[in-house]
Amino acid sequence: MQEKGTISIHTENIFPIIKKFLYSDNEIFLRELVSNAVDATQKIKRLATLGQYTGELGDVTVEVAFDEKKKTITISDRGLGMTAEEIKKYINQVAFSGAEEFVEKFKDAKDANEIIGKFGLGFYSAFMVADKVEIHTLSYQEGSEAAKWTCDGSTEFEISKGKRKDRGTDIILHINKDSEEFLDKWKLQGILDKYCKFLPVPIKFGTKSESVEDGVDEKGDKKWKSVEIDNIVNTTAPIWTKSPSDLTDEDYLKFYKELYPMSEDPLFWIHLNVDYPFNLTGVLYFPKVKNEFELQRNKIKLFSRQVFITDEVKDIVPEFLMLLHGVIDSPDIPLNVSRSFLQADSNVKKINSYITKKVADKLGELYKKDRKAYEEKWNDIGLFVKYGMISEEKFYEKGKDFALLKNTNNEYFTIEEYQSKVKPVQTDKNEQTIFLYATDLNKQDSFIQSANKKGYDVLVMDSPIDSHFIQNLESKLEKTQLKRVDADVAEKLIQKDDTYANLLTEEQSKSVKEIFEKAISNTNYSVEVEGLSPEEMPVTITMEEFMRRMKDMAQTGGGAMSFYGSLPDHYKVAINGNHPVVDKVLKAETEEEKTRLAKQAFDLALLSQGLLTGKDLTAFVKRSVEMM
Ligand code: ADP
Ligand code: MG
Repeated sequence: MQEKGTISIHTENIFPIIKKFLYSDNEIFLRELVSNAVDATQKIKRLATLGQYTGELGDVTVEVAFDEKKKTITISDRGLGMTAEEIKKYINQVAFSGAEEFVEKFKDAKDANEIIGKFGLGFYSAFMVADKVEIHTLSYQEGSEAAKWTCDGSTEFEISKGKRKDRGTDIILHINKDSEEFLDKWKLQGILDKYCKFLPVPIKFGTKSESVEDGVDEKGDKKWKSVEIDNIVNTTAPIWTKSPSDLTDEDYLKFYKELYPMSEDPLFWIHLNVDYPFNLTGVLYFPKVKNEFELQRNKIKLFSRQVFITDEVKDIVPEFLMLLHGVIDSPDIPLNVSRSFLQADSNVKKINSYITKKVADKLGELYKKDRKAYEEKWNDIGLFVKYGMISEEKFYEKGKDFALLKNTNNEYFTIEEYQSKVKPVQTDKNEQTIFLYATDLNKQDSFIQSANKKGYDVLVMDSPIDSHFIQNLESKLEKTQLKRVDADVAEKLIQKDDTYANLLTEEQSKSVKEIFEKAISNTNYSVEVEGLSPEEMPVTITMEEFMRRMKDMAQTGGGAMSFYGSLPDHYKVAINGNHPVVDKVLKAETEEEKTRLAKQAFDLALLSQGLLTGKDLTAFVKRSVEMM
C-alpha cells in the first residue's frame, strides 16, 4: 500500500524559496526538529500523567546522530508518534493561508525565524539542508501501524507502511551538497549547544551512526545506532525553571559561569517569575559594568519554553536593561513577527514594564537593606541606574530614591540628602541651589580647591553618561542648577550679593584687558577683568556651563547635540583685578615686559588646568627660566 500525493501549497516552488531566502540561518533546522521531538516527548509524558497512555514510557531521551558516509542526520524521539492520517494532517497541509501571502511576506523578512514561525514551517526547515527527508513513525495509539513518509523537496510526497516497531519518530535528513558542513561533529555540537542546551528532555548526541536502510534493522531496532561518543548535551531543568527558594547563591553563580565562562562574577541577580497576565521566567544578572557599555550588549538570551531563540532582546527588554546578562523565557513573546509589530505588542510592553519594575525594586531593596554595601557597589551599578533614569520616566521615579551622588571626599548622598546638604551655602541670590561638579579631579583641582575654600561641596561626575545625567537631573529638580566647577571663577559660580568690588579704575581695567588680549592673541579666548578675592589666582580660564555641557553630550553621542560638537572651544579668561600680579602687569615699564608678564600669568592658568602642551609649554618653561 503506497500513496502518493501533493503537499497542499499553492505554489510549485516553495522549497527553492525556503532554501534560498533562509540560507543564512539554515542551522535552525536542528532547533526546529529537535524541538518537535521534545514536544512529542512532552506530549506523551502528559498523556501518561493523565492516564490516557498506559504503556511504558521507557527511556525518552531524544537522539541526534549523523552519518558522514551516508550523509544523513537523524533525529529520533520516543514521543507520541504519528499515524499516517496525522502525517497528512500535520505535515502535508502546510499551514499558511496562501502562497501569495507567503511570497509577499518573505520579501521583507529579515531572518528565518520570522517565516518559519509565522507560516508554521518548522518541520519544513529541514529542506534548507536536505534534498530528501524521511519520517519513520509509530503512533502511541493502540493498534496503530507504523508509517513512512518521504519527500524529495518537490511538492510530491510518498506515504507508505513503515517498519518502526516502537513508539516515536525518526526524522532522517539526506543532507544536500551545499550543506555538508553540517555533517560534522563540532558543527552539530555547536548548534545543539546554542539552541538545545536547556531543553526539558534529555538529548543525546551520537557523533557517528550505523544505519540500516529501512528505518529498522533486522532485529526491529531503530534504524541507526550511535557508536562513538554519545553524551547528553543539555541540562533539562535550568535554574530559571526552578523556584528561587530551592536555589542557593552558588546555584546562581554556577549558572552564570555556565552562560558566560569568561566573565567576572556578577554583582547580584533577579529571578523573574510571573504567570499572569503573561508568562515569563528568567534570571537577570547585574554584571560589573564599567565604561564599556557598548561591548556588553546582547548578553541576555531569549528562550521560548527552554528553546533558545535569540540573543537580540531589543524591544523586549528596555534599552537600559540591555546591559544586564542572563536569560528570559517566555512563550508569550511573539518571536516570529516584524520589529514594528513587536514594539506595538501589548505583551511585550507589559513584559517591558514588569522587568523595569522588578529591577527597580531589587535596587531599592539592596539600598534599604545595606546602604554601605550598596555604596560599595555604586561604582558598578551607577552607570546603569543613571542610564535607566535618563531613558525611562518610570525608572526615574523609583531611581531618584536610590541613585547616589558622590562628592570629592568620597561621600555618598541620595539626591534629596544632597539637596538639603548644600542648600544653605550653595543657593544663589535667585534662590537657585547650585550643585557643583567636577569631571576630572586632576585637571580641575585648582577650581575644586577654590570652591572648597568658599565652603562649597563638589560632586564627582566622571562617567561618560554623566553629562546626560546632569541634564536630566536639572530638568527634574526644581530650583536646582548644576555647574561644572570650572564654569566660572569660584566667586561667580554661585552668584551672591556680596561680591568683591574691582579695585581697578575703569581705565586701568581697559588697559589690563588690552594687554592680556595682545599677549594671548587668540579669538577663542575672551578676556574679562573682574573684581575677585585677592586670594584667587590672577588669571582663571573657564568655559561657560551650557556650551561645555552640550559639547560633552555631543561627544557621548547625543544626536541633536552634534551641532555643538562642531563648534570650536570657547573660553573665558577672567583677570582678577584685585590680584597684586595684575597690578604688576599694569605697572610694568615696557610694553614688552607687560606682554611677557601677562603671557606668563595666562600660561600658569593653562598649566593648572592641564591645557598647556607642546610648543606653548616649551616656551613657558624657557620664559620661566629667563625670568628667574
Ligand atoms: P509546529 O511545531 O509549530 O506545530 P512544525 O512544522 O514544526 O510546526 O510541525 C508540524 C506538526 O507536525 C507538529 O505540530 C506535530 O503535530 C507534527 N510533528 C512534527 N514532528 C513530530 C514528531 N517528532 N513527533 C510527532 N509529531 C511531530
Ligand atoms: Mg515545530
